[in-house]
Amino acid sequence: MIIYNTLTRQKEPFEPLHPPYVGMYVCGPTVYGDPHLGHARSAISFDILFRYLLHKGYKVRYVRNITDVGHLENDSDDGEDKLLKKARLEQLEPMEVAKYYTDRYHDMMDALNVRRPSIEPNASGHIMEQIEMAQQALDAGYAYVVNGSVYFDVAKYNARYHYGILSGRVLDELLSATRENLEGQDEKRNPVDFALWKRAQPEHIMRWRSPWGEGFPGWHLECSAMGRKYLGEQFDIHGGGMDLQFPHHESEIAQSQVANGQPPCRYWMHNNMITVNGQKMGKSLGNSIMLEEFFTGHHPLLAQAYTPMSVRFFILQAHYRSTLDFSNEALQASEKGLRRLLDAVQTLSTLPPTPALQASEAIRANEVAASGIVEKVFGALDDDLNTPVAIAHLFDAVRLINAAHDKKEPLSVDAVTTLKKLFDEAITQILGLRDDRQASSGHAALLDGLIRMILNVREAAKARRDFATGDRIRDELTALGVAVKDTKEGSTWMYER
Ligand code: ZN
Repeated sequence: MIIYNTLTRQKEPFEPLHPPYVGMYVCGPTVYGDPHLGHARSAISFDILFRYLLHKGYKVRYVRNITDVGHLENDSDDGEDKLLKKARLEQLEPMEVAKYYTDRYHDMMDALNVRRPSIEPNASGHIMEQIEMAQQALDAGYAYVVNGSVYFDVAKYNARYHYGILSGRVLDELLSATRENLEGQDEKRNPVDFALWKRAQPEHIMRWRSPWGEGFPGWHLECSAMGRKYLGEQFDIHGGGMDLQFPHHESEIAQSQVANGQPPCRYWMHNNMITVNGQKMGKSLGNSIMLEEFFTGHHPLLAQAYTPMSVRFFILQAHYRSTLDFSNEALQASEKGLRRLLDAVQTLSTLPPTPALQASEAIRANEVAASGIVEKVFGALDDDLNTPVAIAHLFDAVRLINAAHDKKEPLSVDAVTTLKKLFDEAITQILGLRDDRQASSGHAALLDGLIRMILNVREAAKARRDFATGDRIRDELTALGVAVKDTKEGSTWMYER
């Protein structure tokens, strides 16, 4: 398996430090607001990595944090804590806000069929670990204390190591570009220095005791401290959105380097951003669409509601390192494509097997084609998780299945078995796609039972030559999007294409 490493700016073979174990850390949500499409993209991108590593037989410990303290406005160290602001506005305990939005995040990710990580640590539950790491940075001489706050000395670090190794930023340019108009900046030796620990102002609710007085940790510190606690001083993969490369991940590298004497991980992976009509998506731009709005269709930019699986499929149809532009047309196309794919899964399960005696040139050719598709699908996934190419090859399988269904080119038992295994592994397990046109699998069984019951009533009507009733039942089912197919063995049903 080859993955693109942001750190080396090239594709590299994936070689875990301690096979078959893989440790991966992904920056999770800041729980002060509802999840939007950007959250879905990051969660789904790393969900595919998680699922694919498991498919390849690795034992993966996937850590994704919940930021419930310390993430400050404008990524500066001096703005007002977003979570506190929300708590004040809504007259709630900060923990109440964090719990509410953590639950919301889980609900939305469950709907998108994103597997939950192995460990989901909260920043507020790991204050001791963060204090310990800040102390280590101080002991190593790369941090300093001013008025109860601890700052990381970026210039000193850069003199020995390389601040900018991940993001490609150059310290001198950062220094000349930094505006010094932020309150509290004067405490720092240098405007690019970042807080490991901040002294709490009297009105600050979330505060903890530390060797430097009462305060709270800086945002970058939590990921370094929790990654180390659960994955060790050096682990395999660290992931997150591209917007986190700088300053968040750059600062994580610096903190871990001085505290542990080594960089935190071998591979850095970043998913690209979502744009809306070519423009960056963002709350401040007014074009940010919440996931719930996608599912209900209640947003001025949305032409309709989209099922969570349509949104998931839409995201997977772009490579995680490419930008993904939202438009209704693109989502509608994804919705249609997903329907075709899932219909083929259903069709495949109903295909009558062709006995070996009937094996012909065409059947043998299809067998070769089916095995070729399997190789191409997994070849694409092995190539830096290229989901759009993998999906394109899955549609080659859809064409084979539909041709067999239309009795043009029959598939042998072997080809059917090969494609069933491919669909189960690639579509269900790795891409995590499921038919969510029904509310749940329990409902799916009920729905199937009900439709079969109606079809039995129709059979009975036809048996007593009441063809008017038979036709009416079929037409009404068709109007509901259920296609009825009469065969010698009886009637079957499927969703209308
Ligand atoms: Zn992080």
